[in-house]
Amino acid sequence: MITRRSTAASRNLAEQLQPLVRVHESIRVRTKVSLDVPRGRTRVRAGRPAFDAADVLSTTGDLTKSFYRTAASFEHSGLATTPQLTALRERSLDPARLALAWCNGESLPRDTTMRLARSVAAVIGNAVLSHAATALADGFSFSSWKRPQCPCCGASPDLAVITDTRRSLVCWRCDSTWRTDLAGCIGCGADLAPDVVRIASPHLGYQVAICNACGRYIKERRGAPPQPLLVERMLTLGLDEAAQQRGLRA
Ligand SMILES: [Zn+2]
Ligand SMILES: [Zn+2]
Repeated sequence: MITRRSTAASRNLAEQLQPLVRVHESIRVRTKVSLDVPRGRTRVRAGRPAFDAADVLSTTGDLTKSFYRTAASFEHSGLATTPQLTALRERSLDPARLALAWCNGESLPRDTTMRLARSVAAVIGNAVLSHAATALADGFSFSSWKRPQCPCCGASPDLAVITDTRRSLVCWRCDSTWRTDLAGCIGCGADLAPDVVRIASPHLGYQVAICNACGRYIKERRGAPPQPLLVERMLTLGLDEAAQQRGLRA
């Protein structure tokens, strides 16, 4: 019953977000970045993240076309209204600067149009970095990587995927996935109650692992995410909001 409900919810959202998912995938596949893959892999073997995310973003060239294409897909996916899109198009915007602000985790703008602009840039930034991370990981193993930060870009994971034999982490920024030996908190390593508490959201198919010792949280699910990560993140936005309202950080 629980599984059926969660599947239906994520399938409905996935259908609604199809225009956005298609644009994201198209940017991810077609984007061109300048990336020294052998050098990045050497860095990973030495225990350092493969690349600097801001540097990679800066090599993609003009993002203007991708920006307005992605913005239109927000409207087609029901994430933005036509008046909101009109307001966005009337603004003078710098998509590269917006993508960099997302990449650096700068706080969200208060202005609603600029907030939408940041969300659009986030989709592009993620597509570009995911492209770079895929190029780096293709045919390469992260098995030597033991840190809880992303082996590609050095950011924190926002998702953990658990199977019977392993726990993998997913980078919030570039979607890289790597195995971890940590069973609980990725911040301080605590792994037992009462330090680590898991709150289930069965209707979403997720649980939130909260660390009372250091105040970090991470969203977890059993088994591979059924939808693209973009959709999974939107589906579970409420979990982030609830955790952050409790003063926890990702
Ligand atoms: Zn990453
Ligand atoms: Zn902790």
